[in-house]
Amino acid sequence: MSKRTLDRMKKGKIKYRCKICGSTHSVIHQYGLNICRKCFREVGEKIGFRKY
Ligand SMILES: [Zn+2]
Repeated sequence: MSKRTLDRMKKGKIKYRCKICGSTHSVIHQYGLNICRKCFREVGEKIGFRKY
């Protein structure tokens, strides 16, 4: 992890960004996914994730 990234994290403004659509809203960074909820619903099933 670069120092630049750490500085951003300290500020806390930069949140995780969806690697699919680029959205920073409601991004799930757990499981190393880094995708937003919207994309998660689409991708989740493909990669074997089922949310209830
Ligand atoms: Zn997305």
